[in-house]
Amino acid sequence: MKIKSINPYTEEVNWVYDSFSFAECEAKIGKSRAAFSGWSSLPVEERAKHFTRVSSVLRQNTEIYAEIITKEMGKPIRQSRGEIEKCAWLCDYYAENAAEFLKDEIVDTGAEKSYVTFEPLGVIFGIMPWNFPFWQVFRFAVPAICAGNVCVIKHASNVPRSAMEIEKVFIEAGFPENVFSSLLIDAKTAREIIEKEMVDGVSLTGSVGAGSEIGELAGKLIKPVVLELGGSDPFIVLEDADIERAAQVAVESRFLNTGQSCIAAKRFIVIEDVVVDFIEAFELEMQELKIGNPMDEETDIGPIAKKEFLDSLEKVLKDAKKKGAEPHIYGEEQSKGFFFRPTLIPAASTDMKVCNVEVFGPIAPVITAKDEDEAVKIANSTEFGLGAEIWSRDLERAQRLAKRIKSGFVAINGMVKSDPRLPFGGVKKSGVGRELSHYGLKEFVNIKTVVVN
Ligand code: NDP
Repeated sequence: MKIKSINPYTEEVNWVYDSFSFAECEAKIGKSRAAFSGWSSLPVEERAKHFTRVSSVLRQNTEIYAEIITKEMGKPIRQSRGEIEKCAWLCDYYAENAAEFLKDEIVDTGAEKSYVTFEPLGVIFGIMPWNFPFWQVFRFAVPAICAGNVCVIKHASNVPRSAMEIEKVFIEAGFPENVFSSLLIDAKTAREIIEKEMVDGVSLTGSVGAGSEIGELAGKLIKPVVLELGGSDPFIVLEDADIERAAQVAVESRFLNTGQSCIAAKRFIVIEDVVVDFIEAFELEMQELKIGNPMDEETDIGPIAKKEFLDSLEKVLKDAKKKGAEPHIYGEEQSKGFFFRPTLIPAASTDMKVCNVEVFGPIAPVITAKDEDEAVKIANSTEFGLGAEIWSRDLERAQRLAKRIKSGFVAINGMVKSDPRLPFGGVKKSGVGRELSHYGLKEFVNIKTVVVN
């Protein structure tokens, strides 16, 4: 089978790869398992040091990697560079902190000595998405490898070049071979690898459907699993908010990566007293967005990553129109590429699909709420619980409200952003487990208790 990388702007084929046979996967995972014994026996300080070199390789080659990202999935080039820098920051963070995080924890139990120690599990399998082709992989693999595991990934089928390039980054940074490797395979082969118990843990970032299938499989085989799935993050604007600033951040949050981010603000819930002002400020910001060639420095909105996603965005819009929406569409129409123009839906209602499903594209519905209680009710009314934003000048009030939001992250007067120092993950259908910080580092370890009597 061939795996094709298609440029969503030119619609031309970038690269074609042969997918790996099952025997090739077995051989590669076998080598990973062999690499585990050497890698896991290194002191954590030694392992962590390797990541300083990874961050140097990333920074030295930013332009090359950023271009690959943009060519494979259409991210505007400035944002692709930002993605590489963020991966480098993550590597530096674990290089500096992993040893401290993984230190034995002494617990006073009255025995001679009791402690908790953290041991790696083995070969951890990452099933990764295309929306942040480098960042998602690094976010999964760096903490897992720092903890002493080895990682094998199956990247999304539209970003094979990113997958192979990341493998090279680890080699260039001086890692022993097979501590990190990429398999070019389809989803079915990925499930077979788990079913045959070739790996010791699984982490998937992607849709709820994929997460549910992998979660079920991992559960059946009693394998640890982390699922980072979708979101439909509410962005609540209270009547005492700085409306201008809220609108600026709202547009940034909704349209970053052309709206294809799990933690994008996806539903704007605004108290009725300020909804007109908010929409006015939001539209002013939207008018500034430049749509076009993602390789241009000025471009803010590139094409959607895959042609078939345009259909699902059209469907969501059609459903909204059927239910009374009158969308405002911005940006110039493009003659080629998988474009979907930035769209605002003022006066959206909660029965519209755009307010319920995860909309992976540049559509922004604004829902009016009569007061904060209604805003919270609407915010919590989807199956997702990844992030949320609350805007108010009264920080006590905003924090009281934050407690009532069912999500893994609440940003007050700011944007939900993943940060290596903070745990990241969701509740409800947004997933299980956490990535990043010391919490993420301990997802794929045996938290072992030792009691000396
Ligand atoms: P998927 O969830 O289908 O893909 C994510 C990864 O999972 C890919 O590597 C994919 O492989 C793999 N995969 C998919 N289904 C299975 C399965 N049953 N068993 C094993 N592996 C599987 O996302 P899509 O790319 O199709 O995007 C669809 C929607 O998912 C988006 O519109 C968005 O709503 C959501 N999504 C959310 C993301 C997030 O960051 N939370 C990221 C990406 C998508 P392959 O590419 O070969 O199919």
